[in-house]
Amino acid sequence: MQTAIQGFPRLGAERELKFALESFWKGEIDSAGLERRAAALRKQNYEFLAAAGLDLIPVGDFSFYDRMLDTAVMVGAVPPRFAGAAPGLELYFRMARGGATESGNIHPLSMLKWFNTNYHYLVPEFSHGESFRLADRTLLRLVDEALALGVKAMPALIGPVTFLRLGRSTDGVEPLALLEALLPVYEQVVAELAARGVEWIQLDEPWFAGEATERDRKALALACARLKSTAGNARLVVQTYFDSVGDNFAALAALPVDGLGLDFVHGPENLDLLEKHSLPKDKKLFAGVVDGRNIWVLDTEKALGLVDRLKALVGAERLVLASSCSLQHVPVTVEPERHLPEEVFNLLAFAREKVQELVALARTVDGNASAQDKARLDSAAAARKVSTISKLRVAPEVRSRVSGLTEASFSRGLPYDQRRPLQQKKLGLPLLPTTTIGSFPQTSDIRRLRARLRKGELTGAQYVEALRNDIRSLVKFQEEVGLDVLVHGEFERNDMVEYFGEQLGGYFFTRNGWVISYGSRGVKPPVIYGDIRRAAPMTVEWSAFAQSLTQRPMKGMLTGPVTMLNWSFVRDDISRREVTFQLALAIRDETVDLESAGIGVIQVDEPALREGLPLRKAKQADYLAWAVDAFRLTAAGVRPETQVHSHMCYSDFNTIIADIIRMDADVISIENSRAGGQLLKVFRDREYPSEIGPGIWDIHSPLVPEQEEIEHRLDEIAAVLPLERLWVNPDCGLKTRSWQEVTPSLRHMVDAAVSRRERAAHGGGGH
Ligand code: GLN
Ligand code: ZN
Repeated sequence: MQTAIQGFPRLGAERELKFALESFWKGEIDSAGLERRAAALRKQNYEFLAAAGLDLIPVGDFSFYDRMLDTAVMVGAVPPRFAGAAPGLELYFRMARGGATESGNIHPLSMLKWFNTNYHYLVPEFSHGESFRLADRTLLRLVDEALALGVKAMPALIGPVTFLRLGRSTDGVEPLALLEALLPVYEQVVAELAARGVEWIQLDEPWFAGEATERDRKALALACARLKSTAGNARLVVQTYFDSVGDNFAALAALPVDGLGLDFVHGPENLDLLEKHSLPKDKKLFAGVVDGRNIWVLDTEKALGLVDRLKALVGAERLVLASSCSLQHVPVTVEPERHLPEEVFNLLAFAREKVQELVALARTVDGNASAQDKARLDSAAAARKVSTISKLRVAPEVRSRVSGLTEASFSRGLPYDQRRPLQQKKLGLPLLPTTTIGSFPQTSDIRRLRARLRKGELTGAQYVEALRNDIRSLVKFQEEVGLDVLVHGEFERNDMVEYFGEQLGGYFFTRNGWVISYGSRGVKPPVIYGDIRRAAPMTVEWSAFAQSLTQRPMKGMLTGPVTMLNWSFVRDDISRREVTFQLALAIRDETVDLESAGIGVIQVDEPALREGLPLRKAKQADYLAWAVDAFRLTAAGVRPETQVHSHMCYSDFNTIIADIIRMDADVISIENSRAGGQLLKVFRDREYPSEIGPGIWDIHSPLVPEQEEIEHRLDEIAAVLPLERLWVNPDCGLKTRSWQEVTPSLRHMVDAAVSRRERAAHGGGGH
């Protein structure tokens, strides 16, 4: 049985790629230096994969920034604003990162989350008459490099349908209408790859693990037929991942290609589909059996059972065992994590270990496992067994609290229209109240304080006193600017999930568990291993101190349970729903403590709520049901006069508006500065019952918005939603902005709100 993976982490075990890229951007190394370091990293990966016994080694999974960008550059999909850049790295990084030129600032391609992951891809832009051509030969060079190293290379391309469907039209052109123009470039690439004698070529088409249309399916069939006819002796495999393929199965099975990749970990329904429809005899099945999205060792018994069934369905000779998706979603190796409790460490498998598991699994099924293979699978099984009876894992009081939840646990008691007057009376806020999303600039001074605390150069008390000074001046600043609901600035937080995770039982932290987020950026998701326990209040002292400095309401700031879940690596022995409810109870205890400490406004951020939405429609309702329940559970412990806010980092609520309403927050703030009134219509049409703060300042850009610009945005918003339900706030937190931008922007924001407030008081301009 052969083995394959769709991709390996490109960042490097020591984040070598990050440092190489950042040195290059700073001008410390030249392009030859960057290429040299990248080649060394690739060589190291190839050597590891070959030595581990992996049969098909992906090439083209490596990228200097992002594979969607690589594809756009390869096929010459370069928007006109980049015309001035020299082909090669200059053009490439300008599309990725933008740049200042004589003729002004050039905006980069925008970024979006890659399906339901926390990885961001660059969004290609298409317009009518787009003329594609093979404009960049990087992929072919990478394949030559690998072949010269003696690697059994499986070149990987993002398939044409996924590439087009994830793109953005700049002039209304329908991306799929460009398929005919695009295909010749793909044909040329496939022909050139085939000429190099590769056995397999991988086409990534994860689009088909979501809700594809009949038109998408036809486009894929057409593309595959054309590519197959230029592929010569090379075989084509269409890879899907992240979910089951659902009603796309029959179309995928019928494609004129040589292999189909299905994810049996995150799409267990694929097994039933395979049983029902069967796979034509001429096709190999690339079966995703090792979880590429999570960090736990193989469940040996379950995996062996799965492979047995697959064998029975398609036969061993047609089976290629694979990871469920590219391993870029997990860190490189567990080796630096021996500081963790032994049972936790033993349960971990990152990319390198997962490749070894995959190979061991294949050899075991084939009956030629080595002693090492056997030891690996045995120790995985043993680690899983130990964890089931672990005290680190199971906290009976948490379990019984979750199982004892009743309908009342999820309800605020009074409906919103009865809470509203109580809150108004208590808070006494003006029309169009102004606030911020929570964080203020994390200056290098603040980060230095944390570093010094870590190194022991500051005592805990000195650290607290230093941060209190920052809070003092921030409170003064906000009062002086005239904001209505203040915040303490979140200076004490390195990261909005890690900060809470560090104080919650059940969480563990890796030293080096980096996963790529975008470009050179990594994130180090915390690990949820055990039941979540809150030992003590986590934010109350900071918020209460901040409240003691002012008469205005101070907003308590918490990260919501669904975001905690979606930005962590999560145990797989209990359901995600149950983990989320445990998190929700911990945060609920915090809201109650904040309220008792005199905090009357509490914001529970859920920026990642939508990101966790399953790709297949059939699973979405279930996710949304428990995700919204978790939020309600968090908020339902406080009195009706306490105002609960939530914040979400996007603006398109069309498909989930009913769920947003069901959250029953008193106020939500969302991103909206680029969208005008357009996306807000759904709140009007669905009679969104509570208050809403559509962002009026794009904090992802360094530009300072002028007062009139903000007034104009407010007018656009007020044309859609009633003035007395509106708040005025930025799109998101201000953590990454500088004070030079924040000070004038907030002044303009408050002045704009005051001007519209006055106009309304004089009876003008209302709607
Ligand atoms: N309260 C957080 C902040 O202001 C929210 C961040 C987010 O939505 N990602 O930074
Ligand atoms: Zn946000």
